[in-house]
Amino acid sequence: MVVDFNKTSGLVPVIIQDNRNLQVLMLGYMNEEAFEKTKKEGIVTFFSRSKNRLWTKGEESGNFLKVENIQIDCDNDTILIKAIPKNVVCHTGSFSCFGEKESKGFLYELEAKISQRIDDKVGSSYTYSLFQRGINKVAQKVGEEAVELVIEAKDNNDDLFKNEAADLLYHFLILLKAKNVDLEEIEEVLITRNN
Ligand code: AMP
Ligand code: ZN
Ligand code: ZN
Ligand code: ZN
Repeated sequence: MVVDFNKTSGLVPVIIQDNRNLQVLMLGYMNEEAFEKTKKEGIVTFFSRSKNRLWTKGEESGNFLKVENIQIDCDNDTILIKAIPKNVVCHTGSFSCFGEKESKGFLYELEAKISQRIDDKVGSSYTYSLFQRGINKVAQKVGEEAVELVIEAKDNNDDLFKNEAADLLYHFLILLKAKNVDLEEIEEVLITRNN
């Protein structure tokens, strides 16, 4: 992993990306010394052009960036670091220097929407009415949808199969809510198994 610091008069731009959802968090610069320190400590240290010195992100705020992965671009003059941020990244208090925390994807948005319907006790909502019938009923629905999916798996109608897969995911999310478990916790179990 050789970065060409000479090409750009000693300072190379560094993109910091959230290792969990790949959101861009901030951009800084490193000289060779900052890069070596970052690799050695596993915590991001930039060279600050305004401070004109090495700057460990979080040195005052405690909001450090824990290094998870380092990549160099195609022509060795830009660094991409995947990191886990402690707390927020931007000194304005926002999650990233380019705005607030982004969703981890549609399933997480759906999870939030399901949670809202239930917390707000929306009487007209199927989600809430199913939830109200209790955890056994919700679990039973998950079982039914799983069986329907199994049945469609034997056929070769992709549309029906996809629809049953969607039904299963949707009811699965309601069951998680009923069990007070977050989708993220399930993801965490899978990630741990994968290591
Ligand atoms: P910190 O490194 O988080 O302890 O912050 C120390 C100082 O660095 C702050 O007072 C800001 O001036 C500056 N700073 C912190 N985070 C950022 C950032 N994401 N982008 C630009 N400047 C920052
Ligand atoms: Zn390049
Ligand atoms: Zn900022
Ligand atoms: Zn179904």
